[in-house]
Amino acid sequence: MAIRLANRAGRAVLLSDSDGTTRASDLERASGGRFGADPMAAFGDWDAIRDAAPGFEDAGEPCHAKELGPCVPAPKQVFAIGLNYRDHAEEAGLPIPETPMVFTKFPSCIAGPTAEIPIFSETTDWEAELVVVIGRRAESVSEAAALDHVAGFCVGQDVSDRRLQFATKPPQFSLGKSRPGFGPIGPAVVGLDALSDPADLAIHCDLDGERMQSSRTSNLIFDVPSLVAYLSRFCALEPGDLIFTGTPSGVGSVRDPRRFMKAGETLVTEIEGLGKLENACVAPA
Ligand code: ZN
Repeated sequence: MAIRLANRAGRAVLLSDSDGTTRASDLERASGGRFGADPMAAFGDWDAIRDAAPGFEDAGEPCHAKELGPCVPAPKQVFAIGLNYRDHAEEAGLPIPETPMVFTKFPSCIAGPTAEIPIFSETTDWEAELVVVIGRRAESVSEAAALDHVAGFCVGQDVSDRRLQFATKPPQFSLGKSRPGFGPIGPAVVGLDALSDPADLAIHCDLDGERMQSSRTSNLIFDVPSLVAYLSRFCALEPGDLIFTGTPSGVGSVRDPRRFMKAGETLVTEIEGLGKLENACVAPA
């Protein structure tokens, strides 16, 4: 059975839809205590949860997206890939990479699917991204075996302060993309068996109702299996680790005229089969 694992008030819940209503079933209670409440513990148990879930009788209770926190609240490692869509590399005026360009988003930036995005500078930009959630330790895995180490996917935003990112030479990608609230993810980690074709999902991003990005994940230069295999050659990947896989064309900093997010605007990021993020841009507290 395909599972959608989310975080409601710090507890792992399984989401389901019936009659247009999303319901959340508490994992610990539904499983009679076999699985714990900690969302981070669930990724190491992914296969067992998937196998056991059809036997859970608890249908759960109605759940609004605003009740959900980040579906992976405390990843140990957050990898991100730059310039991984051909059209985005071209719009940025940069060569098509021959190897994945890897940086990190520091885990303190991770936020929920409806969390507010503080606008610290007038150069705050959006990047809609497919995010991979690791489900089984991966060290030097082959591309063919890579998806066996993936729990599922979620939607992500690689929010970027361009001035901070490019304040140095070479640029400091990690710092410019890790301010508080700059890593919204969610709404749930969706198992790959829930997706008709996990390698080809529509991805969109709208700012205040205006479409800014529209592509398909089949346009990735380095696809998910190749990224997992590549990263696992150099780093041990652990359950709950995240990989932000890169953004398609249409970011604000290279539009003509340039466009950035402002307090009062709303950013909506959606991926086919995974759901959407809806993040309000606000003045910093
Ligand atoms: Zn990015």
